[in-house]
Amino acid sequence: MTADAKVRLYVEQPLGPGQPVALDEGHANYLFNVMRLARGDQIRLFNRQDGEWLAVVEQVGKRQGIARALAQTRPHTPPPDMWLIFAPIRKARLDMLVEKAVELGAGRLVPVQTRFTNAERLRPDKMRAHMIEAAEQCGATYLPDLADLIPLDRLLSTWPAGRRLYWADEGLSGRAAGLKAALEADKGTPAALLIGPEGGFAPEEREQLRALAFVTPISLGPRILRAETAALAALTLWQSAAGDWT
Ligand code: SAH
Repeated sequence: MTADAKVRLYVEQPLGPGQPVALDEGHANYLFNVMRLARGDQIRLFNRQDGEWLAVVEQVGKRQGIARALAQTRPHTPPPDMWLIFAPIRKARLDMLVEKAVELGAGRLVPVQTRFTNAERLRPDKMRAHMIEAAEQCGATYLPDLADLIPLDRLLSTWPAGRRLYWADEGLSGRAAGLKAALEADKGTPAALLIGPEGGFAPEEREQLRALAFVTPISLGPRILRAETAALAALTLWQSAAGDWT
């Protein structure tokens, strides 16, 4: 039934030839109840560092199971060194943003608390589950990092040397900011994209961002985009000019 090993799962364990991999309750439920896989069926497994492996189901249980890695099917290919920094938004939109950010190749997701952000209901466990699902589905051979929620002030005051921060500034909407040229010029530089909340950035935040040498303000066109649209547009632009699409 699974000769082509369609099911792909992210695991935390190391993968190598003959390596047994314990499957947890979530995996067991998905593989054996939902997908109706049985002993001897093949699946594909990947983790953060060993690439993707063909594996065979060896033990089937109600709440656990064991698979054995057979051979590597794809090497580990990390995403470009690019962070997506975003102010948390309402749940359905946030789920979408997280899923699409993984598909579009963000290397690290960083939720940021800005003046107009309401992050009370942020659920990192749920976000991580969405990231795993997206990574499994899109063929990634890695899982992007998920950072803890960080206040904008602290993010900026602890900014790592050498990383460029592209700030999607709604105040530039409609003004050409030479984005493509700026991105191409920075090709190979560690990067980050900063997207604000639905309420936008506060005047003092905009002032603070403007004053920083590592910040490049960017425009995303003449219309004001919703935060999740802005994130996806910025990711796409960055990827096509400086990322791993070229
Ligand atoms: N309420 C704000 C808009 C916020 S849109 C207002 O009316 O001005 C949410 C975020 O998306 C913004 O903070 C910005 O980071 C990004 N964004 C949306 N449209 C943009 C555009 N045309 N150019 C640059 N950034 C944009």
